[in-house]
Amino acid sequence: MRDPALPSWTRRVRDIPDFPRPGIVFKDITPMLADADGFAGAIDTLAAPWRGTGIDAIVAVEARGFIFGAALARTLGTGFVPVRKPGKLPGRTVRQTYALEYGEDTLEIHADALPAGARVLLVDDVLATGGTLDATRALVERLDARVVGAGVLIELAALGGRARWNGMAPLHAAWVV
Ligand code: AMP
Repeated sequence: MRDPALPSWTRRVRDIPDFPRPGIVFKDITPMLADADGFAGAIDTLAAPWRGTGIDAIVAVEARGFIFGAALARTLGTGFVPVRKPGKLPGRTVRQTYALEYGEDTLEIHADALPAGARVLLVDDVLATGGTLDATRALVERLDARVVGAGVLIELAALGGRARWNGMAPLHAAWVV
């Protein structure tokens, strides 16, 4: 049974079982993005905890993080800084490698993307194991910017990503499932 108190945009996120691998239930946000009210509602929920908190820049990871990060930057009136897979950013980069369930992955940020001390909000669509968010935090801190928090649209609580983030700046999830 769906909680009637949940924001209406959550109804437009659908579960796709066994994607991209058997055993994964993928949260497909595309029906919500395609709906004007759904997308606006999701951005409003994501933005709410951070209004008036003096964020200088939003940092988000390709590809789905860009959708929410860019819209949120516009909503909060901040800059937007992309974190990308290796070899995509044209300037000098800083890179961070992190462990996945099987194997590892690497992310990059432009070395000059953030001034020292900038107040940064990290944004992603889904928090699963927390590896992506933790690697992004490490990249921002290596540029001497300050991570003041993280906002995710959907937190998959059973996967324990919040524990990996624990003890640092606030982490707000628009929807915890
Ligand atoms: P994480 O395990 O927290 O590092 O998640 C890795 C990335 O994969 C995040 O950026 C999520 O967008 C994505 N992701 C992980 N699990 C799911 C899922 N069940 N549905 C949709 N996206 C997911």
